[in-house]
Amino acid sequence: MRPSVSEDRLAGLRALVAGGAGGIGSAIVRQFMAAGAEVVVVDIDQEGLDRLQAELSPVLCLRADLTQPQQVEDVFRDITQKWDTLDVLVNSAGISGRPLGDGPVDVCPVDTWHRVLAANLTAVFLTCKYFLPIITEQRGSVIHIASDDALIGPRPPHDTHAYVASKGGVIALTRAMAVSYAPKGIRVNAIAPGWVMTPMTADLMKSSPVWEDIIARHPLGRVATPEDIAAAAVFLASQEASFITGVILPVEGGATVW
Ligand code: NAD
Repeated sequence: MRPSVSEDRLAGLRALVAGGAGGIGSAIVRQFMAAGAEVVVVDIDQEGLDRLQAELSPVLCLRADLTQPQQVEDVFRDITQKWDTLDVLVNSAGISGRPLGDGPVDVCPVDTWHRVLAANLTAVFLTCKYFLPIITEQRGSVIHIASDDALIGPRPPHDTHAYVASKGGVIALTRAMAVSYAPKGIRVNAIAPGWVMTPMTADLMKSSPVWEDIIARHPLGRVATPEDIAAAAVFLASQEASFITGVILPVEGGATVW
């Protein structure tokens, strides 16, 4: 199911979607382009970028490991050869800690902690660091993809503490950035998805008892589609949200409510 997007909600905006080759990121790219935005995509996954380029022809598809400061700097140098300014940054790049043994603090390997924090928090810091000098003041905005796991204590067996801490950092950064950049008319918000059907959760979908338990955690009786998250990103990037900043918007079918 794809929420309909009017063709001009983001007309005239130039957006960078970090992690745009992923499940949520590519849905955001599709909906941003359908809403009239011009889009640059950055991701570490070259095959995913190639698929997206063939399907949608975004303005640019650039490969970079966003945990690496030099690669982030290089990407922004390439973008500014095309455009002087950008209006919207979406930070959707990220990794699950599960395949790396993430778990409660006493279980989580130290190396996993560092890798998850690097991918989910340091990369967000780096993209913002290089994006803010070229953002359009008064209409620009930043949208981070956090997680509802950082709004509540996630129940075992999904108590992956490196992941939760990384997303908690993103939420704190959202609020701090919203305050610091408000005088320039720059809005900073985050979306906190619940479980979403993407490559990140594909391993869990394979086990029906595990997946049914996950679905049962959502009062609305299903998990999110990537399009559910993308629709919220379109709203936060649009003029309809022009007086909204510092918000952590749960898109989780009520999972944090009960
Ligand atoms: P995904 O794996 O489909 O997409 C993540 C993308 O990030 C991939 O394209 C990957 O290549 C890219 N990426 C990872 N590390 C990178 C790096 N170092 N440099 C550049 N790109 C990198 O997963 P998704 O479900 O689309 O996740 C998108 C975001 O949403 C993530 O931040 C994730 O933590 C968050 N999220 C997902 C869920 C869920 O249930 N799927 C729930 C809450 C939050």
